[in-house]
Amino acid sequence: MVVSVRLTSLMLVCPCGRTSRARYDRSRRRWRHLNFGRSAVVIEAEIRRVDCRGCGRVRTEWTPWARPGSRFTRDFEDMACWLVKRMSKTGVAKLLGTTWAKVDALVRALVDVHLDSDRLSKLYRIGVDEIAYRRGRKFLTVVADHDTGRVLFVGEGRTQHVFGDFLASLGEDGRARIEAVSMDMTPIYRKAAITHIPHAKVCLDPFHVIKWAGEALDLAYQTCREQGVKISVDTMTPTQTWQKVRGALRQPGEKHDPTRAAIIEQLRRKHPRLHRAWLLKEELRRLYQVPAADAAEHLRRWTNRARRSGINAFVTLAKRLRRHRDGVLNAIDLQLSNSLLEAINAGIRLIQRRAHGYADLDNLIEMIHFCHGGVPTQLPTET
Ligand SMILES: [Zn+2]
Repeated sequence: MVVSVRLTSLMLVCPCGRTSRARYDRSRRRWRHLNFGRSAVVIEAEIRRVDCRGCGRVRTEWTPWARPGSRFTRDFEDMACWLVKRMSKTGVAKLLGTTWAKVDALVRALVDVHLDSDRLSKLYRIGVDEIAYRRGRKFLTVVADHDTGRVLFVGEGRTQHVFGDFLASLGEDGRARIEAVSMDMTPIYRKAAITHIPHAKVCLDPFHVIKWAGEALDLAYQTCREQGVKISVDTMTPTQTWQKVRGALRQPGEKHDPTRAAIIEQLRRKHPRLHRAWLLKEELRRLYQVPAADAAEHLRRWTNRARRSGINAFVTLAKRLRRHRDGVLNAIDLQLSNSLLEAINAGIRLIQRRAHGYADLDNLIEMIHFCHGGVPTQLPTET
């Protein structure tokens, strides 16, 4: 279906915004538009070129239905890009009646325009994390901005050099502006941060600290189970009972139902050591609930208690937390966690699943920027 349109204005508008009467030449052109039912629609119009003084060269005049230089209408492009954030490019191509390569080119153009802007010039609080691809066999380093929630950088590999190179690329002023960086416990990124932004506060992710406590408790549980202490729950077999015990230990205390609370109470009487381990886990969780001003004191008391508990797993954890004290407290003080990176991580897994994995790494990185880099996409019907 061919829709012929005509620009009625005598004045020519250059894409730079300048108007002129100086027509250079004219020709007929076509733009691919959204399908009308089963029919492919093209817009056809006579279009003029303008000899623009502002640009100092001949340019095709601006039209309201298409972006400069594009052979698709704005509506088509906007629809395609909106869809790419939600389904595979193959699906989008089929739905809109075009090819994968053309959809891909639209996405690339949009990402290129967006990444050129000064998105790196005002960074204050960033987060860094590793993200698995190729079925978990390879890794990417992803840096995000806590203030906008956007991905800033995606690099191949998970070494301190990848993160270091990103920090180096910010320039001296850019690095000086960074106040805080959140990360998990791996020393890789911490080393790069210490080298390139020594003034910035490293914030260690609370979720990982709690995870350590959970792991220590699991170890204590295993030891206790191997020692064969008897705990009874209703008519269950010993194996079932121990599974119940583990469930009760792992669940946050405030969520316990009466059965689980009773199990913990039995532990207190019959196996005080495991009960103490559970208390230590719960007390460490409370570190993130007490007022920030009390956190340092809470952590100090906790590490002392854990060290004296005689439970190996918690003695080790106490040493570890003493080493990471500043990072743990910074995260509380600045209220920074790596949950933004976890959310982005989930989004990237979704991108990979939609495309059944990515053969081409550049393409995957482009899609990460497209979906999580703040590239604006809007349906033609949205205003
Ligand atoms: Zn111009």
